[in-house]
Amino acid sequence: MSLDKNIDHDSFYIDGDWVKPATSARIDVIGANTGLSIGSVPEGSNADIDKAVAAARKALDGPWGDTTPAQRAEYMNKFADALEKRAERLSRAVSIQNGMPLALSEQLEGSYVCGLIRYYAALTTNMVVEERRPSPLGFDTLIRKGPVGVVGGIVPWNFPVVLSMMKIGPALATGCTIVLKPSPGTVLDCYIVAEAAAEAGIPAGVINWVPGGRELGAYLVSHPGVDKVAFTGSTGAGRKVAEVCGRLLRPVSLELGGKSAAIILDDVKIEHLLPGLHFASFGNNGQICALSSRILAPASRYDEIVDAIAGLAKGLKVGSSMEKDTQIGPLASEEHRARVEGFIAIGKTEARLVAGGGRPKDAGDGWFVEPTVFADVSNKARIAQEEIFGPVLSVIKYQDEEEAVKIANDSEFGLGGTVWSSDSKRAQAIARRVHTGTIGVNGYMIDIASPFGGIKASGLGREMGPESLAAYQQIKSIYLPAG
Ligand code: NAD
Repeated sequence: MSLDKNIDHDSFYIDGDWVKPATSARIDVIGANTGLSIGSVPEGSNADIDKAVAAARKALDGPWGDTTPAQRAEYMNKFADALEKRAERLSRAVSIQNGMPLALSEQLEGSYVCGLIRYYAALTTNMVVEERRPSPLGFDTLIRKGPVGVVGGIVPWNFPVVLSMMKIGPALATGCTIVLKPSPGTVLDCYIVAEAAAEAGIPAGVINWVPGGRELGAYLVSHPGVDKVAFTGSTGAGRKVAEVCGRLLRPVSLELGGKSAAIILDDVKIEHLLPGLHFASFGNNGQICALSSRILAPASRYDEIVDAIAGLAKGLKVGSSMEKDTQIGPLASEEHRARVEGFIAIGKTEARLVAGGGRPKDAGDGWFVEPTVFADVSNKARIAQEEIFGPVLSVIKYQDEEEAVKIANDSEFGLGGTVWSSDSKRAQAIARRVHTGTIGVNGYMIDIASPFGGIKASGLGREMGPESLAAYQQIKSIYLPAG
């Protein structure tokens, strides 16, 4: 598959094969840099989901269900090798679709995902699925951790490959099978991943993809053949998914939105702060769920920090996501840019604009907005409370550490966050007090080997690290007669 010309697919990867869609509906893929069509894929229908779920069930009930952890680890290592061969194509496919700067997509969508699958392969190799436990009642119990079953995985457009792998990894590790529904905004990449799965010899039906919109996602969530839902997306959609799963008593993990705080302590060195804040607050054009988009600055150094962050925003190179030196690419869609611009308009009525606020000149016809910074923002303002999901920061003043922690915690969300200080111990002490699922000291990078996820309206459950496996396992106690 070349990305120099339009890419049109005519099938889905279901049951280990390229299968014709049930209807003629199609998804037109629009490139974020140009606003022009760059390809198309069939749009999944309920009948396609039925087929994919049936294939996943058949695989679960077939030989895949009897594989040992060591056998699955072998498949996963082959899968990682096949992905690695395709790393460049994957990162280019993502960047051309959603506008992620190529340098970032090479690092995350191309390379990180191979490490992620290899990490799960290593976990799987050492996985104990049965434990014989002596009971104080005088008999033994066999505790068996089997696969939870068929997983319905739903992902958004901002990191389509990483977020899919965060579901495929634990699914393969535990012996589950999975049907993924990618977002209509990013559908070309999953064809490359499917190709890698086929090359790795992952058995038919273990991983299946059916791209489509929210109605198709809702159909998958409530499908009687699905045993567990793994959802990543907005808090609004997550609540709907949770309601359905609640009614069905279906296990669900939810990775949702955020509005995290960067607490800048008064001893920070600006030259250390800015390079880290570039990724932690503006990464992927502001389209990362865990970004620190509320900047909490001490009153004693407020003006200096506002000037430095405004300078950072003004200095970022905005341009085509396909250029290696681009730091801020276009937003993922026209609709999304309109939403972000709506928040910038609200910000202009709520706070003082110190950088950006418009569309960059000469960037092209894509969905660009300037990196934008507001100062003198109240934490009660809409731009401080609502997830904007674009390159828009709010700088909020605090008087002392107590107030900084209070402001950080005064949010509906609890996903990420950062603390910046010359004294790492001091920063760690603050980090412990922030109500959040993850937080970074002097930087932020999601660790493959540690649990990632949110509290409050940011979600339920954890992905990555050994802690992620439990959500993909069903525990059974087999009581054995004494003697
Ligand atoms: P979205 O909620 O609109 O869509 C996400 C996915 O869910 C898409 O595939 C969509 O088709 C599907 N969907 C939407 N409504 C559904 C429903 N009722 N039932 C089933 N499926 C449904 O989100 P988006 O705009 O694509 O992505 C951006 C959001 O995702 C942001 O809020 C961001 O914070 C969040 N996100 C969270 C994480 C995390 O790990 N916590 C990671 C990335 C993105």
